[in-house]
Amino acid sequence: MASQGANKGTALVIGGSISGMLSAKVLSEHFDLVVILEKDAAPDELSSTSGELFRKGLPQAAHQHLLLLKGRQLFEEFFPGFDAELERYGAPLVNYSEDVSLFIGEGKLPRFESGLDLRVCRRPLIDRVVTERIESIENIERRYACQVSGFILNNDNSRVTGLRYQQGSISAEKTLRADLVVDCSGRGSRTRTWLKKEGLSEVSGTHVNPKLGYASQLFEVRPGQQVKPIEVAPHAPTSPRA
Ligand SMILES: Cc1cc2nc3c(=O)[nH]c(=O)nc-3n(C[C@H](O)[C@H](O)[C@H](O)COP(=O)(O)OP(=O)(O)OC[C@H]3O[C@@H](n4cnc5c(N)ncnc54)[C@H](O)[C@@H]3O)c2cc1C
Repeated sequence: MASQGANKGTALVIGGSISGMLSAKVLSEHFDLVVILEKDAAPDELSSTSGELFRKGLPQAAHQHLLLLKGRQLFEEFFPGFDAELERYGAPLVNYSEDVSLFIGEGKLPRFESGLDLRVCRRPLIDRVVTERIESIENIERRYACQVSGFILNNDNSRVTGLRYQQGSISAEKTLRADLVVDCSGRGSRTRTWLKKEGLSEVSGTHVNPKLGYASQLFEVRPGQQVKPIEVAPHAPTSPRA
């Protein structure tokens, strides 16, 4: 799947979520055209009352989202001014060890300043700010309601040269030629299945199961009440639930 030669041609990205958009940003500096194929409908065709971009493929949209420090730094590197923009939309900065009440196992953890300053918001807000930046890059094209269904390989099966996909409710397959394909379709990635379907041998993979689960709940905030995040993991480390 490696691009041959330098820097030009078309790159296709499977999946238009965070890694898809960030990959497209990087690829746009090396290819004439980058096309993102996302199976969900365009977010602005869905409900968007608060300016956040909701999509079916963002199942965690209603949960609170902690943009961890490294992610915050990387977003800023990719899109200068990103952090200030989240702040402008109202995402507070939270010092994880000082502002969050952490109840882990037997009790409450001591609070201290750690420099772990995180942005707290809902994930669709992050997607909105990233999407706006991506929209301003001329050689990135986003195509929604496009479900990738397989690879096209060259004659000797040594290179992926394109993708097959279905658009909207039309069942007929369409194709797109590519100099490079990047799979950003997340945990449901079908790359290994598609390669096998084309006659290639099994590609080895690593499956990481974090065995974590959590629930979140909305609480009403009374006027004047100071709200800080609370995180409870009552039976850590024996139970991974929080
Ligand atoms: C409940 C929950 C809470 C989380 N909370 C946090 C948090 O607080 N902080 C944090 O940093 N991370 C959090 N994460 C993790 C974070 O959401 C993921 O790491 C991140 O979304 C991964 O991004 P991705 O682009 O790799 O994959 P995904 O977000 O899974 O995106 C994959 C995209 O590919 C599309 N796609 C799939 N198959 C195809 C196909 N065949 N054709 C075209 N498109 C396709 C999907 O529709 C989707 O849009 C949370 C995750 C969950 C589930």
